[in-house]
Order: sequence, then C-alpha cells, then structure tokens
Amino acid sequence: MRKPLVAGNWKMNNPDESSKVLLENILEHAELLETQLLQEDNSSAIDIAVFPPSVYLKDAQEILTGSQLHWGTQNVSAYDEGPYTGEISASMIKGFGCDYVLIGHSERRCLYEKLELDQFVLDQIVAQKYEMAIEHDLIPIICIGETAEDYASGKTEEVIARLLDVLIAHKGVKTLAKTVLAYEPVWAIGTGKSATPEWAQDIHAFMRKRIAEHDVDTADSIRIIYGGSVKPDNAKAIFAKPDVDGGLIGGASLDVEEFSQICLAAATK
Ligand code: PEP
Repeated sequence: MRKPLVAGNWKMNNPDESSKVLLENILEHAELLETQLLQEDNSSAIDIAVFPPSVYLKDAQEILTGSQLHWGTQNVSAYDEGPYTGEISASMIKGFGCDYVLIGHSERRCLYEKLELDQFVLDQIVAQKYEMAIEHDLIPIICIGETAEDYASGKTEEVIARLLDVLIAHKGVKTLAKTVLAYEPVWAIGTGKSATPEWAQDIHAFMRKRIAEHDVDTADSIRIIYGGSVKPDNAKAIFAKPDVDGGLIGGASLDVEEFSQICLAAATK
C-alpha cells in the first residue's frame, strides 16, 4: 500500500512574513487533519511536504521541526560544491532539515530550453541532480511531463519513457524506488486546465508498466503523483485513480483552506 503524498510547490511566491504565516497556518491545519485521520497504528494517513523559496527554509525548519510535515527545495545543484554561482547543493539543503527536493520542474526546464539544450541533455542533468539528492539522503520528486505540442502530436509516452530510461540507466531501477515521480503535463501547469482523471491514470499506469519491465517490486512501490491545476473540486476524482498516489500542487498550495481540502482528498482516497 503506497502512502499518498501531497506536495505544495510555492514557486517564487509569499515574500517575507507571509511565508511564515502560511507555514504556521499549514501546520495548524495539518495537525487538525492528523487528529482526524490518525491510523490505528498511530501513523499518519498521508505525507505532506511544502516547498517554499529557499530563502525561507530556515523559517520552515523552525516552524515545522517536530511536526508531521516535511519540507524541501524547488531545485538542487547537479554538483557537490564549487564555482556554481547561484546554485544550492544537496548537502546544504539537507542542513536545513529538508527531506525532499523537486527536480526537473518544467518551469526550470524551460530556462534551459532557452539555451537550446536538447531534451535528452536536460534529462541527463535531471539524472545528475537525482544522484546528488540520493547521495545526501533526500527524496527527489522527479517531474516528468509533455508540452502542449508533444500532447497534440501524441508524444506523451515517448517523452516520459525517455526520462525514465535515462534515470534507470543512471542509477539502476532499484534506486528509483527511493524517489517519487510527478507526472506533470506542462499544458496543465498553472493553466486551470487539469488532465482528466482517466488521462492521468493511463499515463501513471504507463509509467508503472515501463518500470515493471525492469523490476516489478519497484513499479509497485514507487509513488507517482499528479501535478497540473489540481484544486479542491477535482482532487478527489484524480486521486481516486488506482495509480495516482497524491499530487504536486502549485497555485492551490498558497491557499491554506484549498491545500487542506486537497490533503484531505488524498488522505481519504
Ligand atoms: C506545479 O507548480 O507543479 C503545479 C502543478 O502548479 P499548478 O498546481 O498551479 O498547476
């Protein structure tokens, strides 16, 4: 049984004190949810993680330490240390008590695309970041998804298979079990136009099948979450699908009421 995960990607929002307020509010709501949903063995029904801008990691650490909530960063360097201006290494991130890190989000990939790097090269960079995260005991949430153009030309599975193959070739299939995969169709991110639950299910099942060709246990145990305009009114139907193990939430993670409703939908899947 895979425990659902709801991850809130704040992107570059909530400056200054508003970050602290949101962290405190999320904590309060999560604690209420926790008491409502506590399992018989006292474990929680879902994992919840938040990803504030990195300058607010210390606030996250101060406010969330000792709670059931996890936190992480929206990116990690592909390198350990050295002359990489503006980058943050996995060991620095770990030093702020993070458990998770987002890798390969399409809003970061498109920065590289402006440099006209080929998608396969981008997948290799994602694989290097994944390796760094694993080496420092962080759980990478690896984002994967097709653009509107890929979708229109029927290339969704090709795009997804390409990254999965790169990840498996890089560290072997068993290491993949230490990650979370996030299927995030680029055309659904921040657009208000979510994938249908059936489409999400089909793609998640495709991902699991591709992994199962290498190792059935990894395919069964890995969490695959969906991201792209998840809101309280569509979360339940998307999360109800058997291969959807929760969500990566952007816009709705900035509203504590909406985020809590989405967490509840995942916890009662
Ligand atoms: C995201 O940032 O990963 C995301 C899914 O955003 P939104 O929920 O706003 O579409």
